[in-house]
Amino acid sequence: MQIEDINWKKLSREERGELIYKSMKIVKTPRGWRVPSQSLSGGSYLVRFSSHEPRCNCPDCEIAKQKCKHIYAVEFYIKQEIDQEGKVKTTKGVKISYSQKWNAYDKSQTNEKIYFMQLLSELCNFVEQPEYKFGRPKVPLYNLIFSSVMRTYTTFSLRRFMSDVKIAKEMGLVDSVPCFASVGHFLQRQDITPILKNLIKLSASALKSVETDFAVDSSGFSTCRFARYYDYKYGKEKKYRIWLKAHLLSGVKTNIVAGVEVTEGQAHDSPQLASLLKGVSERFDIKEVSCDRAYSSRANLQLIRDEGAIPFIPFKTNVTGKRAKYEIWKKMYHYFMYKHEEFLQHYHKRSNAETVFHMIKTKFRDNVRSKDKTAQVNELLCKVLAHNICVVIQEINELGIKGEFTIEKEVDF
Ligand SMILES: [Zn+2]
Repeated sequence: MQIEDINWKKLSREERGELIYKSMKIVKTPRGWRVPSQSLSGGSYLVRFSSHEPRCNCPDCEIAKQKCKHIYAVEFYIKQEIDQEGKVKTTKGVKISYSQKWNAYDKSQTNEKIYFMQLLSELCNFVEQPEYKFGRPKVPLYNLIFSSVMRTYTTFSLRRFMSDVKIAKEMGLVDSVPCFASVGHFLQRQDITPILKNLIKLSASALKSVETDFAVDSSGFSTCRFARYYDYKYGKEKKYRIWLKAHLLSGVKTNIVAGVEVTEGQAHDSPQLASLLKGVSERFDIKEVSCDRAYSSRANLQLIRDEGAIPFIPFKTNVTGKRAKYEIWKKMYHYFMYKHEEFLQHYHKRSNAETVFHMIKTKFRDNVRSKDKTAQVNELLCKVLAHNICVVIQEINELGIKGEFTIEKEVDF
């Protein structure tokens, strides 16, 4: 039967999707899958997967909120790709198995808060209480970190989230309920920053058995701070909002964050890679690191190599093979030129780093509420830590791993 002879109206969306997959060319791009439109000549729709939900920008999906034929078509396309390879190639940041895994996802969503409190409390056990030397006894560090991360998780105001801490106390997860003001002041402490960073790494190490490929990306979070500058053109003072930028190294399979740096919004991406990669190879068996152009430099390629991983960074357009004198640089350039398709498949993993930010921002907001500069950095780290715990919870259900955090000697709080 010719494709033109088929009465499309009689078919279900799934059947239409299968026909599109069989008769048209679906193109994989770093942003998603381009599915040709049947009505618009030469037009196409973009299908993307954000966390667990497939999205398409066609009217059926956007207006009718239906799982459209294009999404079905992409599913057929991906499934076929997996079968041909003989192994699950969902690595490109896409969990196409979302329909089968839906139960696990539901389970982790509905029980998430209880799991979250338990995992967070267990994680906080690793925080050592510094000896207090004088004055009245302070609220234990443990309780304050628990409360700060719990508050980020609930996205409640300081006062409203206190009832959650009371519940945690009843569950025996914390031994006292700190006053909401002390939680607010707590995040202003500079010594909290390295503790939070360590807790993020520690929580990530729970997934060391499943993550080998990593992606690097950065994204901004708005603050309530403003900076002033003098506008010479108009001869008056103006102000602009200060942004914080989070740089993340995340595992492409689960979106777990293995390394984090927080800088001012204007900071360049490239210099952050060294600190992001630092120590990660001790915890993970890194095979690949993919980054975008902003991170492309010879030093960075070498850094990734030093960790025993293969770097996947697209080349800046002004770089030619002739000018590249360095060994890896040259190799990567030729790899990029001659194995373009293969490279793009690897590079595609980076789009997963974008879903990490998407996950963090939709769940825990894209702004920080603290007024103090240090508190803003710590608040952002709390978001990342809360994200990691949620990822671990989901993976406990999906992959059947144990939610135990490995204690390693090099973790030095
Ligand atoms: Zn569609």
